[in-house]
Amino acid sequence: MDEEAAPERDKNGPKFHCLPHSTQGSARMGTRKKVHTFVRVKPTDDFAHEMIKYGDDNKSIDIHLKKDTRRGVVNNQQTDWSFKLDGVLHNASQDLVYETVAKDVVAQALDGYNGTIMCYGQTGAGKTYTMTGTTENYKHRGILPRALQQVFRMIEERPTHAITVRVSYLEIYNESLFDLLSTLPYVGPSVTPMTIVENPQGVFIKGLSVHLTSQEEDAFSLLFEGETNRIIASHTMNKNSSRSHCIFTIYVEAHSRTLSDEKYITSKINLVDLAGSERLGKSGSEGRVLKEATYINKSLSFLEQAIVALGDQKREHIPFRQCKLTHALKDSLGGNCNMVLLTNIYGEAAQLEETLSSLRFASRMKLVTTEPAINEKYDAERMVKNLEKELALLKQELAIHDSLANRTLVNYDPMDEIQIAEINSQVRRYLEGTLDEIDIINLRQIQEVFNQFRVVLSQQEQEVESALRRKYTLIDKNDFAAISAVQKAGLVDVDGHLVGEPDGQGFGLGVTPFSAKPGKKSKSKKTFKEQLSSSARKEGASSPVSGKELDVSTSKTQLTPSSKEGDVKDMTIRERETSSIEPLPSDSPKEELRPPRPSTPPPKPVAFEDFKNERGSEINRIFKENKSILNERRKRASETTQRINAIKREMDVTKEALNFQKSLREKQGEYENKGLMIIDEEEFLLILKLKDLKKQYRTEYQDLRDLRAEIQYCQHLVDQCRHRLLTEFDIWYNESFFIPEDLQVALKPGGSIRPGMVPVSRIMSLGEDAQDKFSQLQQVLLPEGPDSVAFYNAKVKTEQKHNYLKTMMGLQQAHRK
Ligand code: ADP
Ligand code: MG
Repeated sequence: MDEEAAPERDKNGPKFHCLPHSTQGSARMGTRKKVHTFVRVKPTDDFAHEMIKYGDDNKSIDIHLKKDTRRGVVNNQQTDWSFKLDGVLHNASQDLVYETVAKDVVAQALDGYNGTIMCYGQTGAGKTYTMTGTTENYKHRGILPRALQQVFRMIEERPTHAITVRVSYLEIYNESLFDLLSTLPYVGPSVTPMTIVENPQGVFIKGLSVHLTSQEEDAFSLLFEGETNRIIASHTMNKNSSRSHCIFTIYVEAHSRTLSDEKYITSKINLVDLAGSERLGKSGSEGRVLKEATYINKSLSFLEQAIVALGDQKREHIPFRQCKLTHALKDSLGGNCNMVLLTNIYGEAAQLEETLSSLRFASRMKLVTTEPAINEKYDAERMVKNLEKELALLKQELAIHDSLANRTLVNYDPMDEIQIAEINSQVRRYLEGTLDEIDIINLRQIQEVFNQFRVVLSQQEQEVESALRRKYTLIDKNDFAAISAVQKAGLVDVDGHLVGEPDGQGFGLGVTPFSAKPGKKSKSKKTFKEQLSSSARKEGASSPVSGKELDVSTSKTQLTPSSKEGDVKDMTIRERETSSIEPLPSDSPKEELRPPRPSTPPPKPVAFEDFKNERGSEINRIFKENKSILNERRKRASETTQRINAIKREMDVTKEALNFQKSLREKQGEYENKGLMIIDEEEFLLILKLKDLKKQYRTEYQDLRDLRAEIQYCQHLVDQCRHRLLTEFDIWYNESFFIPEDLQVALKPGGSIRPGMVPVSRIMSLGEDAQDKFSQLQQVLLPEGPDSVAFYNAKVKTEQKHNYLKTMMGLQQAHRK
């Protein structure tokens, strides 16, 4: 019944991922093991035979308490307890105690298992006697020196391994950490104050000196040094030694002497002499003593809490960090180690209450399980050496294969810069078409070819982008703040062109920046006003549109590169009708004075016109401008194409004429002078002409290619703008006509969601017949052409837009019928 497989729990601190250990076969991966609990009874002449009875199996202990008559004749006071443990040691020698309690734990440590042995009990019950023993009498030495002896004896028995032993001795007193070996010379990181650190390997104490010992005697010296320091410190620092916890740790590291074996094991044995477990109140302590007593009770009760939690299968969180003791013992209590608890009790009647409480602690501890596992690690240096050997062997193997396959010597080493540059050039030639194939040599070369494809591609992308940047001002079209900031700074004119930029010559010369004209009245606004049948709309510091400004507006449209496409004309006409320059009304104080809302919102097409002239004027302007640039480039591309075709035709004609001349010359008999072919002037001129045409052809073709790239880019910008315009319109439409104003106010401050983006499910009840709706929608979408339907389909995000789409599709179907 000692070892029971309990359900896996994943809460017990760090897990060690070890490979199955084939040789030792002792790895119990995933097997949970209960904490072994023993009781040692301190010998006494005054043993309470009537109260304490041992079971025949030497594993159980029964306690019988006489009824306390002071509590009255009838009371429910419990008088009998029975505790079953892994062993009861009474009148046991130090030797027997070691054999029973510690021997296996120490033995397993040399196979890579961590181990912890802890002594618990009231002051004077024999914890220190059990753990350290008497230092004067060898026979009465305790677990610590015996463990060290066993470790060194086992090392002698394992000549196949190089095993190192280190020790440390830690004292925890009043939640402070003390290094009991700090008086010894030690080279290592000294961190004061010491701290408890957790890493994947477990818990360790940063700043605690860890001393290498090569033989038994050295180890004993360290132990005695520590014991002496423990006593001295208790005097000089006025500590009560019964209130401190001491943890002596033996660290083992075993490397195989076979160099090819990369694995090595590590383990540590914690030997813990806990503070006296007697409860506070009994001693009636005060002041300093009270503080100590409280601390002791605290850390031991935290230990108890942790143990209760560990014993409860349902508990997820184990409170290890509540005090230094449980934190330092975290990987021992809940981890991967072999764990033993030895409870020291008095056998005297007067101590029965403490004895009972100690035994209760032991029975709680019995419920705790740990998951012992080998701490196996890999020696990086040995691994590298072994891999190097393996690599050399495989290279030889490859060379043999190559020669058998009649392949010339192939180099499999990593490529140097020159080789990579050669591959880069191959890739470039391949892309240009001057190289038909790239020969496959080996895997490394194939990977590098792909790599260089990526390099070339990204370089080309950058080149295209920087070429475009030279021509256009690239501002995020959604970033209105940036646009207006740039405008204010005078870096761009209203059309978004850099000031002085030659390309922008046809646009908006001399137009005042848009944002500098607040409260300007517009025709469309009037229309809107009429529709709202409201006269209360305040114009702010309104001034009639000046003739000059209108002139500018007109001249601007005249300067726009003409386009054959109807929608652009459409737009320019519309633009002439309405003064497009209008500030964003938001954020201005006059917004509060907006007219009351109409009971029915205006039809969307009308509202859209209005939006384009008001809130959306800026986006609309950018949109139109991009479109006109796009159209201009398209026009140029088509002109260039025409020119190219014309050149091509002329080239064909010239070639024909040249061929005719040639055949004529051949017929008439060639005239040679000193090996030089003599041709007449006509033929010579034709040759020159053809050469010239070819040159023209190439230049034009290059232009066309550039233009196409530009067109693609501009198209993208236009699409973006269109989407933005429609999205902004929908938001604005929602905000203006559907969302209650008080709700908008509530949504506004600090929120990143604009009220208009909130879905309004009934938003699309246009209230007209299907044909009407369709024609109106067409009007809305017309400037963008039928493409915008598909665009919409893809980009609709909000429910509002979803409804819009549904309506639109329904209408299209109706139209088809
Ligand atoms: P604790 O550390 O629990 O306070 P100690 O180990 O200091 O108790 O024991 C108190 C005294 O009892 C010491 O003098 C010790 O030698 C003695 N003692 C404890 N246990 C035994 C034992 N099993 N046999 C002989 N003497 C013991
Ligand atoms: Mg003690």
